Amino acid sequence: MAWDFETEPEFQRELDWIDAFVREEVEPLDLVLGTPADKNEKVQRILAPLQEQVKERGLWACHLGPDLGGLGYGQLKLALMNEILGRSGFAPSVFGCQAPDSGNAEILAHYGTPEQKERYLQPLLDGKITSCYSMTEPHAGADPTLFTTRAVKDGNEWVINGEKWFSSNARWSKFLIVMAVTDPDISAYEGMSMLIVPTDTPGVNIVRNSGVGQEAEEHMGHAYIRYEDVRVPEDHLLGAPGSAFVIAQTRLGGGRIHHAMRTVAQVRQAFDMMCERAISREVRSGRLADLQMVQEKIADSYIEIEQFRLLVLRTAWLIDRYNDYKRTRKDIAAIKVAMPKVYHDVAQRAMHIHGALGVSNEMPFSSMMLGAAVMGIADGPTEVHKVTIARQVLRDYKPVDGLWPSAHLPTRRAAARERLAHVLDLEVGNL
Ligand SMILES: Cc1cc2nc3c(=O)[nH]c(=O)nc-3n(C[C@H](O)[C@H](O)[C@H](O)COP(=O)(O)OP(=O)(O)OC[C@H]3O[C@@H](n4cnc5c(N)ncnc54)[C@H](O)[C@@H]3O)c2cc1C
Repeated sequence: MAWDFETEPEFQRELDWIDAFVREEVEPLDLVLGTPADKNEKVQRILAPLQEQVKERGLWACHLGPDLGGLGYGQLKLALMNEILGRSGFAPSVFGCQAPDSGNAEILAHYGTPEQKERYLQPLLDGKITSCYSMTEPHAGADPTLFTTRAVKDGNEWVINGEKWFSSNARWSKFLIVMAVTDPDISAYEGMSMLIVPTDTPGVNIVRNSGVGQEAEEHMGHAYIRYEDVRVPEDHLLGAPGSAFVIAQTRLGGGRIHHAMRTVAQVRQAFDMMCERAISREVRSGRLADLQMVQEKIADSYIEIEQFRLLVLRTAWLIDRYNDYKRTRKDIAAIKVAMPKVYHDVAQRAMHIHGALGVSNEMPFSSMMLGAAVMGIADGPTEVHKVTIARQVLRDYKPVDGLWPSAHLPTRRAAARERLAHVLDLEVGNL
């Protein structure tokens, strides 16, 4: 019977190497460099030798199958890796599995033509360029059926008009994957398509870049884009016409679980800081760690992190087992909902027991709290995922015949008495 919570020794050796490498070589970059999406010369000069070491170790782009240069590790191994990589903003780029490029690579690999793969996928896999996924619109995000950006066929070109919002990394990207209405006369589920748009195409106008929280101007990476008569050749359609929803589901399923894997790392960091503080800080009666209400925070956090981590690992295992994001939709939605809550609750407790230092800009807790809020919105708000879970769960239930629930005790008792009458030596129906 396979029911194992241990990691194979050979893979554990890789994880130990990743752990030390990220701690010593990569985490310092977060403190002095801007964003990994900005592949400027300075960043490239620092990243390239680190990426080389990862490639030599055979750990580059592990989310990809062997046909695309990865190891085809599957989601479970990836989860164990991401529990380490998630500690650092730069680590996914050093290991070739950074969002949103990883998701964009996945759909290009899945749906791209050989020409699209050569021109857009290969440099992305090599870590040479940044890409952007441009779907959300200023007036509508959670419900893509409300999107209005249009792509109209004109001869052998598509002409795109519309506005997109929070298109992450657009300013540093070489190409955008844009979701647009190609047939307004049918259901949005069949009338929308994905198009690949080189970012320097005339008419791709970035109105402004937004940041989250109090990000510095140069790091603000979420673009408000106005597409004004943007022309791309007809072969820049990704996948079949009308397949945008199917492609989006492929992309977002993987993206959501990868975020959750990395969130395990961030929540653990907050927890470690909480515990270190608890045993370091003295009050009149002793250490913070000796106070019961602090102990409660530590116990609650430990339980919540372990629950969340197991849910993530089990979902990763399910994806490997069925290789079908549709079949694992409920589980992916469940970790998507659990993620912002566990991150928020643990980071908030850790911040609180650090007192003024905790809320100051000398500790990372306020960014963590904001990170938790982002996790509840990006890739769809919590409410929408809760609806998905409930709908999927309810599919396995049937309404009861008659007035009383199937667990109604008098009804069950009567049935049990009838069934066991011969041994109970009771008259059937004499209740
Ligand atoms: C950091 C960050 C990065 C992002 N990157 C990208 C990107 O690269 N590309 C991209 O296309 N988009 C990106 N987004 C956008 C993201 O996908 C949307 O913000 C998200 O889908 C929600 O859309 P909205 O912001 O328009 O919120 P709305 O759709 O206006 O929803 C706002 C709130 O209304 C409530 N609500 C909405 N719908 C429902 C419902 N059905 N039931 C119950 N309550 C509901 C929820 O409380 C929700 O939080 C990013 C967002 C963030 C924060």
